[in-house]
Amino acid sequence: MAAALVSSLSLLRTSRLALPYATRSIAFSHLSLGSLTASFTPLRPQRFVRHITASSNEEAAAKTAVDTGGPTIFDKIIAKEIPSDIVYEDDKVLAFRDINPQAPVHILIIPKLRDGLTQLSKAEARHGEILGQLLYASKIVAEKEGIAEGFRVVINNGPDACQSVYHLHLHVIGGRQLKWPPG
Ligand code: 5GP
Repeated sequence: MAAALVSSLSLLRTSRLALPYATRSIAFSHLSLGSLTASFTPLRPQRFVRHITASSNEEAAAKTAVDTGGPTIFDKIIAKEIPSDIVYEDDKVLAFRDINPQAPVHILIIPKLRDGLTQLSKAEARHGEILGQLLYASKIVAEKEGIAEGFRVVINNGPDACQSVYHLHLHVIGGRQLKWPPG
């Protein structure tokens, strides 16, 4: 039992050093279900708790979010009524850091004019140009952030994909080894 516990902890410590933080969170959540003793020193417990809580919060937020077609928090960010960490901007798109990053680099790219694009499934042929501009902006952002060699572009569409803000946005994620398939 003691050997098994030490072995598990060694594995956990190795994982902590070797694995990206999202994966570490998963590893910890699995191991924490076991009967670890009081001698066990949690590895950055606040971060794990924050990550797990944030994930739960996002799913909960996505379940309650509704596509009303009304203004969203991103309108306030576009209008600079609330602060955001902007990394790229042109006349059509705005890119800023996600408030709840899932990786060392996590940027949101949005159209400044939503024009009915609350979600990708609302796209029409006339949106082709802005969709291309958003995708091209993701490449510019990846280069600016130094992750052009490996990054992921994600669009969550609708409640089943955990969309929580109904203003089309691309997530540009990188800066760590990304896993496949995604959750
Ligand atoms: P979704 O879940 O809809 O695909 O993504 C919405 C994203 O917007 C989430 O990752 C969330 O963290 C981010 N977000 C929500 N509110 C704000 C905010 O006020 N500022 C910033 N920078 N990001 C936000």
